[in-house]
Amino acid sequence: MKKILITGAAGFLGSHLCDRFINEGYCVIGMDNFITGDKKNLSHLNDNPNFKFIEHDVTEFISIEGSLDYILHFASPASPIDYLKIPIQTLKVGSLGTHNLLGLAKAKKARILIASTSEVYGDPLVHPQTEDYYGNVNTIGPRGVYDEAKRFQESITMAYHRFHGLETRIVRIFNTYGPRMRLNDGRVIPAFMGQALRGEDLTVFGDGSQTRSFCYVGDQVEGIYRLLLSDYTRPVNIGNPHEITIKDFAEEIIKLTNTNQKIIYKELPQNDPLQRQPDITLAKRLLNWEPKIGREEGMRMTYKYFKTLSEEELFKSEH
Ligand code: NAD
Ligand code: UDP
Repeated sequence: MKKILITGAAGFLGSHLCDRFINEGYCVIGMDNFITGDKKNLSHLNDNPNFKFIEHDVTEFISIEGSLDYILHFASPASPIDYLKIPIQTLKVGSLGTHNLLGLAKAKKARILIASTSEVYGDPLVHPQTEDYYGNVNTIGPRGVYDEAKRFQESITMAYHRFHGLETRIVRIFNTYGPRMRLNDGRVIPAFMGQALRGEDLTVFGDGSQTRSFCYVGDQVEGIYRLLLSDYTRPVNIGNPHEITIKDFAEEIIKLTNTNQKIIYKELPQNDPLQRQPDITLAKRLLNWEPKIGREEGMRMTYKYFKTLSEEELFKSEH
């Protein structure tokens, strides 16, 4: 049985990855310190004999007994609100945490895939973004703590690959959504879902003309799975190229939730990228992958999940 360590396991993507690898017959070790994650995302795996959980901060030395075949490094705050609130931890998990995991991969002769992001392109001057674009990041801006941690993460990963011959993979994830996103993580989809369910107006930042391209979690997990098992070591974009403005997206949510909420406009956060759309030519060619779930279907499944939250969860305010 192949053994895989998944960091950030109690988070949104990490928990879906645990499910996928368990379904594929792997023995999964989940690791998390719960800084932005939730035990509830893994509760269905509590009694699974092929799942083991270790509560641990990956910026501290990591010790795993026995062999390991693969590592997926997904631990990191991922929403702008989270990384503005915990900027130092964000920098540490991308740098020190990644260093620890690369060291572990080297010691165990394991293949490691690290979760990078479309944020390495910053506020892009090239559209859509291809993997060979170097990006446009304000190093000292508020988002810099995340963007630069992820850029460093990519650099140190390539250095381990080149210098130690480590088997490495880098996925550049574009905005991904679905069940188990944290209601109050501040990202646009949980924010709009929560507002619709509480009967509040939807908050669009800026004039809403900025664009994003949203990928359903099932498609994202499939892309990551194929990349891990491929032999390609350079970064690969995984995302859904279907681009939409945030204002149009808010209108779609109002229709989907069948509410009469209004849109209200708030200040655009500093360095908020104006346009974002993945070029997925490489993923198509290399992995024979492309997203299968359109926004309408994906958002319907996501709304269904948010509707299962209790009143208490819905009205609990975190920020
Ligand atoms: P999330 O916040 O739901 O999950 C992150 C998990 O990492 C949480 O459970 C958190 O507790 C854990 N964590 C953070 N710091 C840790 C530490 N020092 N030690 C151990 N655990 C720690 O976020 P997500 O959306 O699931 O993102 C997962 C990964 O994917 C992140 O690396 C993120 O940068 C990347 N990513 C996500 C998206 C997206 O759209 N969801 C886009 C680009 C990149
Ligand atoms: N956004 C918004 N209202 C909200 C939350 C976010 O208009 O309540 C905007 C945000 O400014 C950005 C887009 O939605 O332009 C996506 O934001 P998110 O935080 O989901 O992801 P990221 O900016 O990291 O792509």
